[in-house]
Amino acid sequence: MVISGLSPGEIAAYYRRVGVQLGDGTDDWFRARCPNRAEHNHGDANPSAGVAKTTGFFKCQKCGLSGFADQLAARFGWPPPAWNGRGPVAGERPITDRDGRPMVCWHDYTDEGGRTLYSKARMDTPAGKEFFFWAQGSWGLKGKNIRRVPFRLHRLGKAEEVPILEGESDVLGAEELGFIATTTDNGAEGDLSVLARFLTTMQPVVVLGDEDDDGEAYRANALKSLTGRVASLKSIHLPELNPGEKDPRDWVAARRNDLQAAAERSATVIEDTEEWQPASEFRIGRASEALKPRPPMTWIVERFLGRRWVSIFFGDPGAKKPMRFTTRPFVLPWANRGSDSPLGGPQC
Ligand SMILES: [Zn+2]
Repeated sequence: MVISGLSPGEIAAYYRRVGVQLGDGTDDWFRARCPNRAEHNHGDANPSAGVAKTTGFFKCQKCGLSGFADQLAARFGWPPPAWNGRGPVAGERPITDRDGRPMVCWHDYTDEGGRTLYSKARMDTPAGKEFFFWAQGSWGLKGKNIRRVPFRLHRLGKAEEVPILEGESDVLGAEELGFIATTTDNGAEGDLSVLARFLTTMQPVVVLGDEDDDGEAYRANALKSLTGRVASLKSIHLPELNPGEKDPRDWVAARRNDLQAAAERSATVIEDTEEWQPASEFRIGRASEALKPRPPMTWIVERFLGRRWVSIFFGDPGAKKPMRFTTRPFVLPWANRGSDSPLGGPQC
């Protein structure tokens, strides 16, 4: 987050306090040892990163880690910088809520052209994770006539197949593997069929849920609400889960040392998974259910055509079956009987 009026001294003091070694760099940048130690040999002894002297923005040339101090703090569990809460530059998103509590992360929801329509902030509270929307310079979406969109909409058009995941961080994890993925802005809840409106009829969809009970519910909901609305559906489970891994974000994070292999493995799993088919309408039931008394049949035509029942008419080929039901004497008596008509009302 860009904060106005930061001094290089204040920025340096913060990074040093959280254990990032800084050295002389250029007029605009401190040299820094990257805190993303796992990605560097010898703890990045030969510094690969820089910290901008006016904004505190961090960027590592080698592993690609980048972000403002508050974003790095969220990622590495550092205390947030003291300038959090001082207020952002006009037009930027805030870094704290109304009560001054810092946001853990932000996700922008964009239109097709990549312009931010609204943002979603996550805050960790004693009660758990909370989410808040921010749009047009203030909290909340109500009354702002904001178009709700899938996450990363500006990329979706280019997707050959679209993984649908539970959360934004899962989507960003999938992007590390080269996928163009999406999710909805209401997390695991709600009607996912709206997603179909943003996909073409050519784009196959791959559904993943977290590997837990909630994830199974999400998966079932996604498959049900997208059936018949997208090109095809696959239901994917993450392979070779390590203990503690349960979502795509964890899965990717644990494989950052070889993203290429992880990308290939996930592509193979998708390819080897059969297309998902909805369960048949027929089901195996209990005999006691089948023997339960039924409401009495209401006949439309006595002992011939029942109300709310499927009647099957059969006869030898050439018996003129269609003729018997389309000739005027047969059809007209119903058509004239208003709501008694098997067609549900007067048909003209
Ligand atoms: Zn790095």
